[in-house]
Amino acid sequence: MEVIDLTQVPAVDNHCHGVTQDQAFEYVTGWRRAFTESADPSMPRDHVTTTSFYRRLIRTLADFLGCEPEEEAVFAARTEKNGRELTHELLLAANVEALLLDTGFPPPEEVFPVPELGQIGDCRAEPMLRLEVLMEDLLAEYDSLEEMREALAAALDDVRGQGYVALKSIAAYRTGLDIREWPREEAEESFHEYRRTAGAGSARLVHKPLLDTLLHVTFAQASRQEIPVQFHVGYGDADTDLLLGNPLYLRPVLQRPDYRGMPVVLLHECYPYTRQGGYLAAVYENAYLDLSYGIPLLGYGEMLSFTRAALGVAPSSKLMYSSDGIGAPELHWMSAIDGRRVLGEALGEMVAHGELDLPEAEAAGESVLRGNATRLYRL
Ligand SMILES: [Zn+2]
Repeated sequence: MEVIDLTQVPAVDNHCHGVTQDQAFEYVTGWRRAFTESADPSMPRDHVTTTSFYRRLIRTLADFLGCEPEEEAVFAARTEKNGRELTHELLLAANVEALLLDTGFPPPEEVFPVPELGQIGDCRAEPMLRLEVLMEDLLAEYDSLEEMREALAAALDDVRGQGYVALKSIAAYRTGLDIREWPREEAEESFHEYRRTAGAGSARLVHKPLLDTLLHVTFAQASRQEIPVQFHVGYGDADTDLLLGNPLYLRPVLQRPDYRGMPVVLLHECYPYTRQGGYLAAVYENAYLDLSYGIPLLGYGEMLSFTRAALGVAPSSKLMYSSDGIGAPELHWMSAIDGRRVLGEALGEMVAHGELDLPEAEAAGESVLRGNATRLYRL
């Protein structure tokens, strides 16, 4: 079987996060923490080093840094470089054309500012607006749900004009993807309950009728402006209820004819719900499936398997590459290497099966790595 060579195709990373400016870790366990979604302290100490992801990371990094493929040597070699140098070298090697950044996390003061990260990586860097952060900021200022709805609609009146290429929601982390329409009284009650919990300031928005109601305000704006909305789906840290992170819950939103102008991007291959996400991308014209190769932190075989599943059910014009890299630049970098390799292998299999010819497979690889995102986000 011939693997499709995508090594020279630049990548548009359609969903990632900022890189932490300070890359100095006193202990290796601090660095290991970047490669687990667990908050349990014994995980980086006792278990992270035995994941297939981490073993692959150490080998791939050792090759890049020119040292022994052992954790100690790799950690020492990466620690010799400052955050800016390391990020520059890794992003250049990753051949990244554009980074679309979820600025909601990590806190802005910890990471390179968006334009600066673009300079460091010699690539485009564009921000995306995290909706729950905007909502929490506005909720601190308004005394009625009606005023809040109007303020939110006004804040989202011209999303592209404000410099954002997309919106992002973490409803899956907060109250689940079963985003409903609530009777007015219940939404009002939820608003007042939020205000009571928050006191004078802003607080974590985990009030379902309120969050769902505000999301519908957002969807109306996104549909009108044809702005993509990215949803966290599936795999995340222990904060997420994976049962409520199933993309099939989004059906009522996807079914609404008045929301068809809003491209819905299902993030993280919806892992482990990749087949469900791929199905949605196959059935709804405005549903897209993101394939992220940094996080979830998976082994090669599992990445190949979700890529096969996605390519097997969804049109390749609906799939987009990302890293979901966050904090450590190694994630953005290794994801690009792995993504090209895995995609190349999965597409090569399709050629071997007689589903695609070679030029079609190369074109599909280019679409997933950059073309589809360039069009969808109007880059
Ligand atoms: Zn993310």
